[in-house]
Amino acid sequence: MLFSVTMDLLFKERGDQGGEFKTMHITYHTIDLKLKHPFRISRSVSETRKNVIVEIDGGIGEAAPSPYYGDNAETVIECLEKVKDQIGDDPFQIETVLSNLNDKISGNYPAKAAIDMALYDLIGKRLNIPVHKLFGLDGKKQLVTSFTIGIDTPDKMKEKTREAKDFLVYKVKVGVENDIEMVKAVREVTDAKIRVDANAGWKDAEEALTKIDQLKKYKIEFVEQPIDPNDKEGLLKIKRESEIPIFIDEHLMTSKDIPGFVGLCDGINIKLAKCGGIREALRMIHVARAHGLQVMIGCMIESSVGIAAAAQLGSLADYLDLDSNLLISNDPYEGMTVKGGMIYLSDKPGLGIIPKNM
Ligand SMILES: [Mg+2]
Repeated sequence: MLFSVTMDLLFKERGDQGGEFKTMHITYHTIDLKLKHPFRISRSVSETRKNVIVEIDGGIGEAAPSPYYGDNAETVIECLEKVKDQIGDDPFQIETVLSNLNDKISGNYPAKAAIDMALYDLIGKRLNIPVHKLFGLDGKKQLVTSFTIGIDTPDKMKEKTREAKDFLVYKVKVGVENDIEMVKAVREVTDAKIRVDANAGWKDAEEALTKIDQLKKYKIEFVEQPIDPNDKEGLLKIKRESEIPIFIDEHLMTSKDIPGFVGLCDGINIKLAKCGGIREALRMIHVARAHGLQVMIGCMIESSVGIAAAAQLGSLADYLDLDSNLLISNDPYEGMTVKGGMIYLSDKPGLGIIPKNM
């Protein structure tokens, strides 16, 4: 009797009406995301981005490839084609599925992240609970996200800040000649917190420390990626001399990279598309904490699918930068509510994502 009840539950969890274990299959399609404003950072400008939506037996995930890391929709699809029939029959074996994937394929983190998200969405749907609950996290905790102001003329940056006046924190992209003028312009139209992200645009520690010193009077919360992440000596100098905390983002991909930045920064920026998904992001949070580092969860240019997935872990982070769904004009999905600069998670099962207008 007990055996029968247990097996019934198992089959129910697997969504397997007849008791047959079926191999899970990956299907995918691309989406062309259009940015509301050209998105300029110190090294590049983007007006559109092609991402890949992945579905696994009703679970949904998003690959947000970044050309900076050598990824694009084609590399994502190539990876998905290699593994599409090899992910087993049970989403609850996610550790094994993802470990096998990492053994077989190096890099390709956006594709791996999409598979990870889709499996978690599927697990949540089968258990009928939101993914954050699966991790024992508080779905009601206030999740304040920053809103990103890309590099532009000072007037345009003022306008963008005014357009997004409800936000409590702005992340201003810097790393170009007129950084100070740009931050001054944003400060003139808001009393909210301002963080800056140079995306490694400052050439060395001297330039970074000079800029940081000049930015101080605009009350900057922290500085993200001041210089090239390979310039460890420069980062050490900045960490020792800067009066403003320093966060590392570029080329800090997975938990294995964290020890290499200990002592060189105050915190790290974790992104699902850099690390390979929710499972590795959770591991990174623990590794960062063990090293006394602060945690930001950020994003690439992605729709509400990727943002809702990252936001599931939001209550574990010190800072969130989960706004790219708000920077695009044609998000095909909705997954959470953003109001007054805060993200409110959906209480729907899985990642809580639904296609828009349905
Ligand atoms: Mg960054």
